[in-house]
Amino acid sequence: MIQSAVKKFAREQVAPLVSTMDENAKMEKSVIQGLFQQGFMAVDIDAKYGGTGASFFSLILVVEELAKVDASVALICDIQNTVVNGLVRKHGTEEQKATYLSQLATAKVGSFCLSEAGAGSDSFALKTRAEKKGGHYVLNGSKMWISGAREAELFLVMANADPGAGYRGITCFVVDRDTEGFHVGKPENKLGIRASSTCPLTLEDVKVPEANVLGQVGHGYKYAIGSLNEGRIGIAAQMLGLAQGCFDYTVPYIKERMQFGKRLFDFQGLQHQVAQVATQLEAARLLTYNAARLVEAGKPFIKEAAMAKYYASEVAGLTTSRCIDWMGGVGYTRNCPVEKYFRDAKIGTIYEGASNIQLNTIGKHLDAAY
Ligand SMILES: Cc1cc2nc3c(=O)[nH]c(=O)nc-3n(C[C@H](O)[C@H](O)[C@H](O)COP(=O)(O)OP(=O)(O)OC[C@H]3O[C@@H](n4cnc5c(N)ncnc54)[C@H](O)[C@@H]3O)c2cc1C
Repeated sequence: MIQSAVKKFAREQVAPLVSTMDENAKMEKSVIQGLFQQGFMAVDIDAKYGGTGASFFSLILVVEELAKVDASVALICDIQNTVVNGLVRKHGTEEQKATYLSQLATAKVGSFCLSEAGAGSDSFALKTRAEKKGGHYVLNGSKMWISGAREAELFLVMANADPGAGYRGITCFVVDRDTEGFHVGKPENKLGIRASSTCPLTLEDVKVPEANVLGQVGHGYKYAIGSLNEGRIGIAAQMLGLAQGCFDYTVPYIKERMQFGKRLFDFQGLQHQVAQVATQLEAARLLTYNAARLVEAGKPFIKEAAMAKYYASEVAGLTTSRCIDWMGGVGYTRNCPVEKYFRDAKIGTIYEGASNIQLNTIGKHLDAAY
């Protein structure tokens, strides 16, 4: 049901804007409004907070379907759901949920702010500080690479409230965009997912009430790991959808295109490549769905989520590269959507834990298991 609704939305309201949004490096407001109107920004949030009340698995299907058409739109939906909403739902007080979840479900884009210039893979080395002063905290520091920051109105900022305790001082704060001293910088000019804004942030004496601490002081690192573990399944779905969208565009072309008096698809050398990619896509889908199924069943899923994200990113890179090969010169031009899928795929091996970090996680689990 939700899958057909998202397909229709992607086809009718996103597809006509994809290349303009990529060219202008800006997401159209109508797309974000549409995501909210359709309930795609709060898929697995309870209806009492304005959410759709569907499952985590449904959310993964939504991200996959959106990514078939546009990976940037899939990303804003994915981060809102798997990371931002997830953090507030799991760790917020009832009052915070009533306020923020309702806003996130219906109208406000949220950003997750962990990374800094010196803290990427080693994210707990973050330098943003939170100093307690009476009934509030004062935040100082800067963040890098914050997705959706141009559009966001709520920011979940990780800052260290007790540097002496190392990463055990990291705390999550809900910061309103309009707070004095909070600045969103110019979006980065990127290779791919160009319609998704990626901005630096600076925090200069940003006063945040104590009531805006999400969960417990010093538990931010646990919350970040937890939400990124689930978030990785969302990124796997994004990469899977993107690769499938690219493949679906390309195969009909090679079934029409004639060379040497035959359809390209009829050359066995090429057909075997298509069959290999189709098999890898299926394997990525099964890994992704399996990880989502484990989350829903309340079973351990961290290794499986890392495998899904790692593998789906590899498959997205390979699929989009092959699709350009199969389309030849046409595939290399900006008039053809395959070129954009190729650029968009690259981010999969970098964010929410680069591929080596996924392999570290998988390796750690294997070490413990044998
Ligand atoms: C478009 C985009 C959007 C993003 N959105 C967000 C966001 O919304 N919020 C947020 O907080 N962050 C965001 N990020 C940041 C992202 O999560 C980091 O870029 C990522 O974690 C990698 O960090 P880094 O770029 O500093 O690379 P580095 O950590 O410098 O890594 C560089 C390379 O070294 C390898 N490497 C690092 N450590 C190890 C190790 N221990 N073993 C083996 N290899 C290693 C990595 O695999 C990688 O290949 C975004 C980044 C981008 C580019």
